[in-house]
Amino acid sequence: MAQSFYITTPIYYVNDVPHIGHAYTTIAADVLARYKRLKGYDVFFLTGLDEHGQKVQQAAAKGGIPPQAHCDKLAPQFQELWKRLNISNDDFVRTTEPRHKTVVQRTLQALYDKKEIYQASYTGWYCTFDERFWTEKDVVGGLCPDCKRPLDQLSETNYFFKMSKYQDWLVTYINEHPDFIRPRARRNEVLGFLQKPLEDLSISRPKSRLSWGIELPFDANYVTYVWFDALVNYISIPGYLTDEPRFHTWWPADFHLIGKDILTTHTVYWSTMLKALGLEPPKAVFAHGWWTVSGEKMSKSRGNVVDPNAMVAEFGIDAFRYFLLREVPFGQDGDFSREAFIGRINSELANDLGNLLSRTLTMIERYGDGKVPEPGEPSAMDNLLQQTAVKLLGTELDVHLNNLEFNRALEVILGLVQLANQYIDRSAPWNLAKKAEDRGRLNTVLYNVAETLRFLCLALAPFMPHAAEEMKRQLGLMLNFSKPLLSAEITWGGVLPGTEIAKGTALFPRIDTTKSQGESRVDQQQPGTPTPPMSSAGGEGQISIDDFRKVALKVGLVAAAERVPKSTKLLKLQVDIGTEKRQIVAGLGAKYSPEEMVGKRVVIVANLKPAKLMGVESQGMVLAAGDLEVSALLTTLEDVPPGSTIK
Ligand SMILES: [Zn+2]
Repeated sequence: MAQSFYITTPIYYVNDVPHIGHAYTTIAADVLARYKRLKGYDVFFLTGLDEHGQKVQQAAAKGGIPPQAHCDKLAPQFQELWKRLNISNDDFVRTTEPRHKTVVQRTLQALYDKKEIYQASYTGWYCTFDERFWTEKDVVGGLCPDCKRPLDQLSETNYFFKMSKYQDWLVTYINEHPDFIRPRARRNEVLGFLQKPLEDLSISRPKSRLSWGIELPFDANYVTYVWFDALVNYISIPGYLTDEPRFHTWWPADFHLIGKDILTTHTVYWSTMLKALGLEPPKAVFAHGWWTVSGEKMSKSRGNVVDPNAMVAEFGIDAFRYFLLREVPFGQDGDFSREAFIGRINSELANDLGNLLSRTLTMIERYGDGKVPEPGEPSAMDNLLQQTAVKLLGTELDVHLNNLEFNRALEVILGLVQLANQYIDRSAPWNLAKKAEDRGRLNTVLYNVAETLRFLCLALAPFMPHAAEEMKRQLGLMLNFSKPLLSAEITWGGVLPGTEIAKGTALFPRIDTTKSQGESRVDQQQPGTPTPPMSSAGGEGQISIDDFRKVALKVGLVAAAERVPKSTKLLKLQVDIGTEKRQIVAGLGAKYSPEEMVGKRVVIVANLKPAKLMGVESQGMVLAAGDLEVSALLTTLEDVPPGSTIK
């Protein structure tokens, strides 16, 4: 029987519409779920909604509708977003569903019968406006720390779970299970919290002040505290108390993915509840960080809440999934900015990955008659490419994903993309195609790149399911991603010679950065345009002389040149155009070294809107000849002064 893998997201509190934080946890869980399925695991991926509690009751009251109607209105917004983001969850729980409520009540009854729950009266500072108690240490001058209104000293009788008695057990458990709470900083945080005496947990709310919840089975005057209700979803849905064999195939869960703000509830409350029930804690609770937006805290009042729907509409599903997991190590805080987002798409997805696919297919079309050729004997360079690909799928991806290092996993994938691009540049198939005696070598090169793309397609499938499907289709591969494709040994040579390719539109078109926010245009006319010198003027239609005059062409003298870090192609040039010096980023690096460029006279487009390439501003474009690759720089026959007009 296949190994099981059970992963959860928190059930999201349904007091508002979904934002980037919800999408982040859910996408991360989806990548793991998809990866484990590809590895041959039986996967249960659970997400859903927390529909009870005070905030839901308040939000509903504000909207003038009953709480259930409020939940019914918001639930589809989450469900539709997950569908849109290609989330492959196996179930979706709503805590107002009878299948969950029944188990919560039976769990409460079981704990009550075991004397793990008792009734006691509690005296504290109560804010009538916020409808909540504050502890002595929170209160300053008798005022509510939240709304600053005067507080009342109030006595209330509630039910308490004997959490305190499990304190020592929990500390020992955490110490003996270093992988239980992750990352390490969060584990230390919980151990720090547990240095203070743990109090018993109030698990009820009198209906007189909160009616929207699950009624206690042993006292109809109370509803269940929302956290007690919510946490039970992790066991109620896989079948606790209703389908024990099924429950035990999934429990204990492999991962609870959570945001760091709900760490205590998931490690302290939840583990002690499970212990009292005689159940094991989850194998791992992993708390990720928070997103700021352009350096600022995300909040409704600042109006900077990132709406995943808007991001997807503008940039596409896979680009969004990729960015969230690529930008920041999972577990740390991250910053979301449009600039960083567009930078990643343009450099890594359009320039590197998209271009690799597009140039490979173009060459197979041109030199292989649209079919993947038969490879010959491998060279040392071929072996390096092959070994890197095999290592990626064989070990690296597994290590990084099991440690939830999504960014590292994407880094090694991107490393293979870059290696394949360099392999093409160094092999120069366009030169091999010129001589009949190089035909065998040309075929080997084309085959190796196509095979590398098959490995990339498999490695990227959990992250970008749609792009992987599209890569597969264009490469003519017969992969079925719903099968455990990674369970067998990954061997080189999976692409069959003779496979017919089907070149399509660009996988990740470049995003035009000259447009203002919300208008960024995905440039469909120039699929996979790799770097500025190779951009063509677009359509084949004729233009008037006036159209041509709109382009300011000038002679420039290259005063300085250096490589753009992490780019194999881009050079950063300082170009003297007589009246001023311009910084221009040009894709000449594969053909010319920075040293060769200094002192060269070049032809530049001087009135191009500035754009950023891999984060470096470019104030113009250097002209060069070449179809797939730069083959020659444009210059002048005589030495004319910099700034001379070209007409
Ligand atoms: Zn208050």
